[in-house]
Amino acid sequence: MEFLPLFFDLKESTALVFGASDAAARKVEVLLKAKCRVSLVAESLNKSLNEHLNSPLFTHFSNDDGLWDVAHIVIAATDNSSVDERISETAKARKLPVNVVNRADLSTFVFPSIIDRSPIIAAVSSSGELPVLTRLLRNRLEATIPHAFGRLAIIARKYRTEVKQQITSINTRRNFWENVLEGRFADLVFSGQEEAAENELKTKLAQQLSEKNQVEGEVYLVGAGPGDPDLLTFKALRLIRQADVVLYDRLVSEPILALVRQDAEKINVGKERANHLVPQDSINSLLVQYAKKGKRVLRLKGGDPFIFGRGGEEIETLADEGVSFQVVPGITAASGCAAYSGIPLTHRDYSQSVRFITGHLKNDTCDLPWEEFVHENQTLVFYMGLTGLPTICQSLTNHGMSADKPIALISKGTTRDQKVLVGTLSNISEMADQAKVSAPTLIIIGDVVNLREKLQWFS
Ligand code: SAH
Repeated sequence: MEFLPLFFDLKESTALVFGASDAAARKVEVLLKAKCRVSLVAESLNKSLNEHLNSPLFTHFSNDDGLWDVAHIVIAATDNSSVDERISETAKARKLPVNVVNRADLSTFVFPSIIDRSPIIAAVSSSGELPVLTRLLRNRLEATIPHAFGRLAIIARKYRTEVKQQITSINTRRNFWENVLEGRFADLVFSGQEEAAENELKTKLAQQLSEKNQVEGEVYLVGAGPGDPDLLTFKALRLIRQADVVLYDRLVSEPILALVRQDAEKINVGKERANHLVPQDSINSLLVQYAKKGKRVLRLKGGDPFIFGRGGEEIETLADEGVSFQVVPGITAASGCAAYSGIPLTHRDYSQSVRFITGHLKNDTCDLPWEEFVHENQTLVFYMGLTGLPTICQSLTNHGMSADKPIALISKGTTRDQKVLVGTLSNISEMADQAKVSAPTLIIIGDVVNLREKLQWFS
């Protein structure tokens, strides 16, 4: 991280601003908004700076005599790089935070793009590198954060002490606020009905108290998709943000884990082939234990929890124990890898059905109905099939599939490290050895693989 975002109270501080450029005027404007005193040093003022002369916080000086001693922060925007450089050096020598406009290299702080819903403030920065990108992101946030968001904070704040006194458990209180701030109360504030909103809040509080602060935990069994965080569902994202405890698998990608709340407890129960960090029984009972303590437990799984994900087994235990749960589907590896490798799983000309098969062959035995797999116009998708690849290819050809049948191996599908290897049943095992293909890898077999040549788009 090049710059750490911090929010400063500048009400009792003085900013020393050099220059009468447009950039200087923009900085002065935002400093005055933060009620910071501004001492501006320039020979003369431009039109927009002139307008600030009415402000009691703004003073114009023609030189910096005596001003350095009273400055708390320094901004250089003189349009003259050697003057800016000198200002930066002086500020650094005096250990004063300094910003040189458009020169992150000379600055010890940068101004972010601000989305102001006071008291809620969001700041976006590209560490001074790409202001255009920052502006684009700011525009998106502007569009998605309702303008009355600040009102939401102001009204909720009025009830903060009361809620704190009445709901003593931190978890219950957090649940309460989350429900209120995402529910009807928020909708009423956003539509300008503040009185009705306050009534709603009071009703919700009364209801909560009559339920005697009994919090029930809940388990969210959520599919995290194959890797690309953009492939999460909205619901998955919402529950990821809410959870108090997260039990996740090895397959869940880093960028997705980064979305988990910082104060949430994260437990890696990941499974690698033949290396179960936490045995399945213990996972099931951990889920139950945490939920019974009143926690919102997120069980985060790669892909879809109901496709080779043992999701069924986990919620069976929950159902037996009377713990409530929700299941959120995710994009399964087959869909993700097919889309990102340009291989449609079905196609009117080549394949009218698709089979998802586990390639995890117990003790290398081929205990699968191979004869059912060799039909024409069918796509086969093997999960967990990398280790058993030679056996899979051999068994299919033994049962009558052409040795020339196209086959694709997609590793780390949908991520930036995605690799796709295309061959035939007869040569793919050797190719995979040579290319040192690594897990997780999905196998797609069928004539649809040939379409990749024309349809691939992701690299
Ligand atoms: N529930 C998961 C599957 C778990 S089984 C889902 O619905 O996708 C684990 C297997 O899924 C791996 O061995 C591999 O075959 C496949 N897999 C999962 N993520 C993958 C990815 N990003 N790229 C390729 N294969 C993947």
